[in-house]
Formats: sequence, C-alpha cells, structure tokens
Amino acid sequence: MASNLTERLSRLVKTMRGQSRITESNVQDMLREVRMALLEADVALPVVRDFIARVKDKALGQEVVSSLTPGQVLVSIVQKELSATMGEGVSDINLATQPPAVILMAGLQGAGKTTTTAKLAKHLIEKRKKKVLTVSADVYRPAAIEQLKTVTAQAGAEWFPSAPDQKPAEIAAAAIDHARRHYFDVLLVDTAGRLAIDEALMAEIKALHAQLKPVETLFVVDAMQGQDAVNTAKAFKDTLPLTGVVLTKLDGDSRGGAALSVRQITGVPIKFAGVSEKIDGLEVFDADRHAGRVLG
Ligand code: GDP
Repeated sequence: MASNLTERLSRLVKTMRGQSRITESNVQDMLREVRMALLEADVALPVVRDFIARVKDKALGQEVVSSLTPGQVLVSIVQKELSATMGEGVSDINLATQPPAVILMAGLQGAGKTTTTAKLAKHLIEKRKKKVLTVSADVYRPAAIEQLKTVTAQAGAEWFPSAPDQKPAEIAAAAIDHARRHYFDVLLVDTAGRLAIDEALMAEIKALHAQLKPVETLFVVDAMQGQDAVNTAKAFKDTLPLTGVVLTKLDGDSRGGAALSVRQITGVPIKFAGVSEKIDGLEVFDADRHAGRVLG
C-alpha cells in the first residue's frame, strides 16, 4: 500500500495532541484517511462505505477515558472494526457429519478451484488424518477432469473418474456411492466454472448442492480480482448457502483488500488462503494477521 492506514492515522493522531476530546472534525478527518487507505488496498467501494458508516457511528458520541488521547481512541475504533469485519482468528473445515463429508467447491474458471481441491485434499490427509476422494463434475472441459486426476495424485488422495458425456448429477451420485462403499471420510467435488457468472452454471451448481447436501460449500476466489471479486462473491452467495471462502493467489496480491470485501459480502469466514501454485501452497487463513496486513 502506498501510504498505509497506520501511517495515515498516526499522522492524524499527531495533529490531535493536546486535545482532550474528540471533535466532529477529528472524526471527519479520520474517516477520510480510512477511506483513502481502504480504497488504496483495493477494497470495493460499497464495502468501504459500510465500513466508514460503522466507524462513524462508533466514533461520534465516543467518550474519551482519561488514560487515552482522542487520537488513540479513534485508532482503536478503526482497528476493532477492521477485526470485526475480517472475522477473528482461524476457522478450519467442518467435518462434523456422517461420513463421507462432502465439500463442494464453487467459483469462476481460473479462480483456482481444481488446484485448491487437491491442496485441500492434502491438508485433510496430513492435518486431519482423513481418507479423501476427489471427483470433477466439470463436464465441459475434459482437461479439467485430467488436471484434477494429476493434482489429486500429487496430493496423495484418491480420484474418482468422470467423463464429459456424463451429467454432473450422475457423477455426483456415483462418487458419493463409491465414497460410502469404500469408507472415505471426505468427498471433495470440483465443479465447472465459467469465465463470467452464468445462469446455467449457477442453476447447475445449485442442483448439485441440493443433491449432495455438502457440509461445506466453499467459494474459491482469486485475490487478485480485487474489486471484481465482490460481484462474483455476491452472485455465488445469492445462489448457494456458502460456508466458507478460499482466497487464492494471495501471493500475488500486495494490497489485501479483496479479503475484506469478500468477507463482508459473503458473511462467511475465509478459511484458507492459496499462497503458491504448488500442492502445499495452502494456508489456514488467519484473519487477525490479515487485518494487520491491511492496516500496514
Ligand atoms: P480453476 O479453473 O478454478 O479450476 O483454476 P485452476 O485450479 O486451474 O487454477 C488456475 C491457475 O491459477 C493455475 O495456473 C494455478 O496454478 C493457479 N493458482 C491456483 N491457486 C494459486 C495460488 O494460490 N497462487 C498462485 N500463484 N497461483 C495459483
């Protein structure tokens, strides 16, 4: 970020030295700095507006306790609101269901769904000691099915075959049956993505969701999409009861704003971050740490 939030706020705090109470103009100045910093971090405008409104509500009418300066009070309001928006701490995959626990992967083409499916398989095998099966319901791109086969092998998981002449519902039924009969703990279902949001695609994934009743429905989104991530997130959230987000390609995103936007729009936690193209390039997302990063 060119001039991060912490720098901006500390400059402002200096101008408030010697004051004993927060004035309306202090609040306005602070809101302007917060707005600029969030926009520079590529947080989407509607999300910035909501954030500013919440901070403003809290800042106006805030009593200043004698041990703190008005500047310190304002900074702490911003920090708390940022943490609250981003979510706190970490939240792992929920597997609390009768096995096989189904995890449905949703997102646009190129977001990193297939790569993330395999990364997640590896995570669940190594960290949660689970027996994991993957399957691709992407019947439009034979290459996608082959790609999942390759990366699943790298992850040390098992792959269930599917083919472009099958229907996604057929594939899902066969995969879940196989997973049950062979005592898999988890079935990861990779789905088709398009380059843009598409009604047919949304109807298809909605039907898959109804059929599979997944314990987790993860929205996979490219952090480098920045502001565009918001529209995608909104469309998927309106179609599916999402349970979590995987923010991919965080390694290529220096600004970090997509996390805030996507978290706010979907209302569900960001569970993982993709940090490289490699099979082990998946990290449990730490909201506090990321809030610190946006804060600078
Ligand atoms: P899908 O179309 O959603 O299944 O996307 P893919 O899994 O095929 O990924 C698209 C491209 O993004 C591939 O070249 C991946 O290697 C790359 N990719 C996925 N996740 C990450 C990540 O976290 N970091 C980086 N740098 N590249 C990633």
